[in-house]
Amino acid sequence: MAIYDPKSLKAEEFINDEEIRETLRYAEAHKNDAALIEEILQKARPIKKERGYECRGLTHREASVLLANDDPAVTEKIYQIAEEIKLAFYGNRIVIFAPLYLSNYCVNGCVYCPYHLKNKHIPRKKLTQEEVKAEVIALQDMGHKRLAIEAGEDPVNNPIEYILDCIKTIYSVHHKNGDIRRVNVNIAATTVENYRRLKEAGIGTYILFQETYHKESYLKLHPTGPKHDYDYHTEAMDRAMEGGIDDVGLGVLFGLELYKYEFAGLIMHAEHLEAVHGVGPHTISVPRVKRADDIDPTAFDNGIDDETFAKITACIRLAVPYTGMIISTRESEAVRSKLLRLGISQVSGGSRTSVGGYTEEERPHDTEQFDVSDQRSLDEVVRWLMENGHIPSFCTACYREGRTGDRFMSLCKSGQILNCCHPNALMTLSEYLEDYASPKTKEVGYKMVEEELKRIPKEKVREIAAQNIADIKNSNRRDFRF
Ligand code: SAM
Repeated sequence: MAIYDPKSLKAEEFINDEEIRETLRYAEAHKNDAALIEEILQKARPIKKERGYECRGLTHREASVLLANDDPAVTEKIYQIAEEIKLAFYGNRIVIFAPLYLSNYCVNGCVYCPYHLKNKHIPRKKLTQEEVKAEVIALQDMGHKRLAIEAGEDPVNNPIEYILDCIKTIYSVHHKNGDIRRVNVNIAATTVENYRRLKEAGIGTYILFQETYHKESYLKLHPTGPKHDYDYHTEAMDRAMEGGIDDVGLGVLFGLELYKYEFAGLIMHAEHLEAVHGVGPHTISVPRVKRADDIDPTAFDNGIDDETFAKITACIRLAVPYTGMIISTRESEAVRSKLLRLGISQVSGGSRTSVGGYTEEERPHDTEQFDVSDQRSLDEVVRWLMENGHIPSFCTACYREGRTGDRFMSLCKSGQILNCCHPNALMTLSEYLEDYASPKTKEVGYKMVEEELKRIPKEKVREIAAQNIADIKNSNRRDFRF
């Protein structure tokens, strides 16, 4: 039997089934232990330091106790702390991105995904470089600066060379004042060598969802194709880091397995990355299974309601305070609204989940990976965020300034976000307002920019940011950053 060891590089040892089961038993036994709950909540709270804040995070066991507790008063405290942590490390900024689907050719048999090999009626499509260019122009014309590229796994149709070509094309397109400044990549688990090539191509985060940490279920949910190999999939982030990628993004597809099991596995994965590589995950995504062509989400009996989903999100926030958290347009406006208060720091907007979707007039449902719940335009999402007190940020400065991995985490902890990320957010928001926003959004936006500029503590930084924003308004100068 495999023994739990967060430092091991073997999937079954760092995501250890027996340790997860023991954690769930422990959480169940202690979920109403008021003194312990109070102690855990206390540990999770951000501590004000001379410079910035510090958070200790929670172990998978501690976080699992909070998740198991069902006292509404405790849940309320968890939500409050989640919001405090979000504001301490990420401020009121929300980073915006869009997915770009390159190809839906896939040789896997994932039973929840419409791209699975046996789906014979879904039209298969792979973008040519000309089509990638057209999609990128459409995305730039919406105002996007940051993309997450997505593709099915198919060594013949979507080899790594194809993905690398697409990345090169994306970075080469500059339409009007447009620019894609960060490309994150969500493709199947691959080799150290391929991760190295992705790193050299200038990618931001490498994202790979675990789908489920429960090995037995994983094998059933991925019955055929290379993705069937649980160990290879689970150990992918270690290979990515070995290949030089230090920003990796984790995620579970909620609904496939029991959420408490998944939650413990996810936090253990984060602990493992920290233990082995000295840096935790850059982001965690929280997708839920959605309806899609030939996929009925009710076929999976572990679906979670919105309340449970909110609690999971908040408990992740407490456990891994420095990790960015992402919510996509799989979720509705109402759910996104609630989760934005509980620790989410990145959202997608104006998304199309079909291959070629951004250049087609009608929303084409036939090649979509899943139904999009939030169908608002990027302009509507940007305005909605501002009306709710969040600053939409199109900033990509950190990774372009080499602030990745543990250097990003240090910035996060240092309390310098108000002198660095905050002005960067305001300058990139101003670019958006000037080049792409509707008159109404522009009005709301510049009011916010003016107010938020006052919050920059260092006078010099405040002056430079204000000058840059004036330049953005009065000239074609763009891409200022601290
Ligand atoms: N093919 C790549 C891989 O193997 O990881 C990743 C790209 S896939 C386009 C992105 C993610 O979409 C998957 O990892 C999965 O979690 C999610 N997904 C698949 N089917 C879904 C569905 N029906 N509803 C919601 N999300 C889904």
